Amino acid sequence: MYYSKQKRRNIITNSASILNNPIEYLKGVGPFRGDILKKEAGIFTFKDLLQYFPFRHIDRTQITPISQISSDTDYVQVKGKITSIETLGENRGRRLVATLYDGTGELELVWFQGISWIQKSLHIGSPFLVFGKAGFFLNTPQITHPEMELLSEANKNAKSFLEPVYPGTEKLKAKNMGGRQMGNLTFTLLQMLSEKDVPENLPADILQKFGLIKRFDAYKNIHFPVSQPDYENAVKRLKFEELFLSQLRMGLVRFKRNTFSKGLVFSKVGNLFNEFYNRYLPFELTGAQKRVLKEIRKDVGSGKQMNRLLQGDVGSGKTMVALMTMLIAADNGFQSCFMAPTEILARQHFESLKTMLKDIPVKIGILTGSSSAKEKRTVLKATLEGEISILTGTHALIEDTVQFKNLGLAIVDEQHRFGVAQRAKLWDKNDINPHILVMTATPIPRTLALTAYGDLDYSVMDEMPPGRIPIVTVHRMEYTRPQVMNFIKSEIKLGRQAYIIYPLIEESAKLDFEDLMRGYEEVKAYFPEPQYYISMVHGRQKPVEKQTNMNRFVSGDTQIMVSTTVIEVGVNVPNASVMVIESAEKFGLPQLHQLRGRVGRGSEKSYCILSTKVKLSADAKQRLKIMCDTNDGFKIAEKDLEIRGPGDIEGTKQSGLLNFKLANIIEDRQILEAARFTAEKIISQDPALSSSENQCLKQFLEGEKGKTAWSKIS
Ligand code: ADP
Ligand code: MG
Repeated sequence: MYYSKQKRRNIITNSASILNNPIEYLKGVGPFRGDILKKEAGIFTFKDLLQYFPFRHIDRTQITPISQISSDTDYVQVKGKITSIETLGENRGRRLVATLYDGTGELELVWFQGISWIQKSLHIGSPFLVFGKAGFFLNTPQITHPEMELLSEANKNAKSFLEPVYPGTEKLKAKNMGGRQMGNLTFTLLQMLSEKDVPENLPADILQKFGLIKRFDAYKNIHFPVSQPDYENAVKRLKFEELFLSQLRMGLVRFKRNTFSKGLVFSKVGNLFNEFYNRYLPFELTGAQKRVLKEIRKDVGSGKQMNRLLQGDVGSGKTMVALMTMLIAADNGFQSCFMAPTEILARQHFESLKTMLKDIPVKIGILTGSSSAKEKRTVLKATLEGEISILTGTHALIEDTVQFKNLGLAIVDEQHRFGVAQRAKLWDKNDINPHILVMTATPIPRTLALTAYGDLDYSVMDEMPPGRIPIVTVHRMEYTRPQVMNFIKSEIKLGRQAYIIYPLIEESAKLDFEDLMRGYEEVKAYFPEPQYYISMVHGRQKPVEKQTNMNRFVSGDTQIMVSTTVIEVGVNVPNASVMVIESAEKFGLPQLHQLRGRVGRGSEKSYCILSTKVKLSADAKQRLKIMCDTNDGFKIAEKDLEIRGPGDIEGTKQSGLLNFKLANIIEDRQILEAARFTAEKIISQDPALSSSENQCLKQFLEGEKGKTAWSKIS
């Protein structure tokens, strides 16, 4: 497609903001390069280019004498003349080698690709400014695929600013759109812009309080700073903006919901709750359980919809909080549903609710993928007619066929297994959205919770039920398996049970499956019938088979449970005191912590044995050490975040809320705290953003609202 200059100008001036222009209209881009930028760098508009930030800068004012290049030298810029050019080698080894001489020494320049094209531009005696990563080959300094700039009268002096280095993918480079070309385009763009195109969006007092530079200046200086401090100030400003705006947006969502949403009112605590509490509660609630119940009661009585995230480490007693909240719902004439991520866990919740509530007049139902057609029909009918007060189940609960008479509360256990969209489907099961309680046993570090779940209210259970003895965790090499097996024997002799876990991470992976079977045979050899009985559970079994094996272990008919990670979440067998995790190096920290949480649930001392091969990566060693050092899920989560970075944390990927362009919520914790504090203050003082200071914020947010990036769709 070709656009005349006139047409291009029209497009530019007619659009609301020049920054929304499609990238191909930028001088020097055009349709061909435009396509490359879209495909390889996700740059669709002028704005995308402006926000394609360099990850570092090179001081192009520095020229290094060749004689000073050493093995410590990283990127260098040298200035000299070409003294020789030759092609060497055959086929894949074919390369172009040129020598550059600067009066102090010789530097070898090497190309493996684009040889004929480069050869044309090189001439003996031509002066060049050469830039690249220095290396050594046979004691001669060398740069492979250097950036070359022919020095002419016009540019014979080195550039006078710090030159940006962009994260150009290899493909961009291959299409001759490397860092330097990207820099030129960005430079062109910045020349066209003025402050009105990049208006300030932060109130003046915030800029002043945190010593932040203006937005337009920040964009200029992040690309083309004159000095290192200029660059750092630009980054600081843009990081703050990014974190602050995300905190403000989420805070406003929360504020609006807490202020304007219509919620079902659970006005009273009635007979069901009181009778259970006074007569059947098997233990004293922990302080944390009491506090969280209070927070929930306040929410559900407020007339606004509750959206609360409940975090509590494995074993902190979240199920009891769920149960008592559901009793409050029932006391007020509302139904509840309690959704679990696996069949096993859903059954277990069902069984334990039935046991605990056996003398309380509430009807409990269960619905899972493996419920028979007849069961399903009965449960669906009883749910629709309001006869069932508490419906437990798996994600089968969110299917459209499941209709309630008056759903008042939806509890989602072990939330990280559920997508955001799935959760949203639960909301629509009543005209007025039911209250939502999301419970997660994968502790999320505070910084992450603030950013990833900042739109939810947030409770923490930071206290374990009394009498728990910390789990002893040790790391053992695989060749000590006989000792490990003997240890299990001694525990079984004391009347306890053991888990042995195999890393069937992909339930379909053939190799892993064979490992599991081999492991099972091996365990059987150590623990022969009839003295010992073993349960085995894995993902290829039919639900009934899984359930039977699980039940035999729960009831104590079997002493050993050989399983894959299907038992990872929630399973509660207090008599189990040993957990062996085979190939523990293959698991991530949260998963190890989850698995370990299956033991230490009773009053006996419990053990977790992490079994690995001898040779381990540094990361794996670090993970194992952390596991041996602490039982605290929150500490483990923090470490995990440090090791892996936020992008990988389970359950946050799909949220998209952690995809900051610049900010890193670990390194920039302090900025995040300042941003959050500032956002909260604004929301409490001026939630409509109507004051004159906040106009710039309001306009900016409105401009961004509901904007679909049409250019990305086309
Ligand atoms: P999680 O938070 O991991 O879901 P559970 O709800 O499964 O933990 O509780 C773990 C165990 O602790 C269960 O056996 C439960 O009965 C017990 N428990 C819960 N609350 C208390 C308490 N306040 N005092 C003693 N034991 C408790
Ligand atoms: Mg649980």
